[in-house]
Amino acid sequence: MAEQKAEKVIVLGSGLAGLAAATCLKEKGHSVLVLDKGAVPGGRVASRRIGPALFDHGLQHFHAESPEFSSALGSWNDAGIISRWAVPASEPGPHYRVPGGMRQLMRRLAGGLPVRQSCRVLAVSSDREGWRLGLDDGTEETASALVIAIPAPQAVGLFEAGGAQLPGEARDSLSAISYHRCLAVMARLGGPSGIADGALPCGPEPVAWVADNHAKGVSGEPGALTLLAGPEFSRQYWELGDDLVAFRLFGCVQARLGQPLGEYHVKRWRLARVSATIPERHIAPDLSHPVVFAGEGFGGDRSEGAWLSGLSAGRWMAGRLAA
Ligand SMILES: Cc1cc2nc3c(=O)[nH]c(=O)nc-3n(C[C@H](O)[C@H](O)[C@H](O)COP(=O)(O)OP(=O)(O)OC[C@H]3O[C@@H](n4cnc5c(N)ncnc54)[C@H](O)[C@@H]3O)c2cc1C
Repeated sequence: MAEQKAEKVIVLGSGLAGLAAATCLKEKGHSVLVLDKGAVPGGRVASRRIGPALFDHGLQHFHAESPEFSSALGSWNDAGIISRWAVPASEPGPHYRVPGGMRQLMRRLAGGLPVRQSCRVLAVSSDREGWRLGLDDGTEETASALVIAIPAPQAVGLFEAGGAQLPGEARDSLSAISYHRCLAVMARLGGPSGIADGALPCGPEPVAWVADNHAKGVSGEPGALTLLAGPEFSRQYWELGDDLVAFRLFGCVQARLGQPLGEYHVKRWRLARVSATIPERHIAPDLSHPVVFAGEGFGGDRSEGAWLSGLSAGRWMAGRLAA
């Protein structure tokens, strides 16, 4: 471990991108604090308990196309945190699940880092000393440098709220990243779903994905399903009540499951997956104090895009602070 350096770097977001950036900066000896509004680390890599059943209701599986993400997945696999999953998928290469649910992985990645959860940043501004972040409890955090690893539209909003000016080019790049919505239904059936491989081939509309969290090794209780709607269904029925969303989606696959729908919850992911990316792995506008923006959509989509972008931002920031 390198000698601890004086400047404090705040990393905003404890999703894959934020944790990749924070880990990289910590390894290079920087004093890092991660802030996130969620109760637990992970962002869209999430699991939720409903009664005795556990559901992965955000990211469903990992796979890598680049050597660098492949190596990260390989090391998590060797550490026993993730394991191969023979899931029906269109992409080539091994796919991975997290036994015990996605949140286990994110807990492990956040484990060695100073992370403050349940802390929503409302505005970002700057003065002569550095960055000032206004929090939802009325207090402030200050830092010499910032890594912003939250979805791009939210990042732009925080700078606008704090009156910190972003150069036009950076603003345009951030505004070019756009997202699909996703309606996710977590459903408990009366018994086993009969989905042998843990997931049903579906989609792309109206149901994009159905996974059995018991067969996947996530839930102890059989018949714990995650149903993800396609982007078009999600857009069209976003305002529909939970009951109608759940019954419409479940009705599309019920004949293949052989069990009635029991208890269910609907999660609305407003910024679910990127629909338009930008080529840059990170954006570092020239402002009075160092700042870099990262996340899914910067140089690629999915978990791989988010992870590589976070690493890229962490390395850029370490280089900038060393200069
Ligand atoms: C339903 C669904 C299914 C998916 N399936 C897959 C899949 O199978 N494979 C795959 O590779 N990818 C999948 N993805 C995409 C994958 O989850 C994302 O690419 C990845 O998790 C994005 O990571 P991130 O760090 O960029 O952003 P996020 O995970 O969104 O992290 C951003 C963090 O910032 C925090 N935050 C935002 N605003 C503030 C604020 N003002 N103050 C404090 N904190 C804030 C949030 O709480 C969040 O924790 C899926 C996504 C969804 C929603």
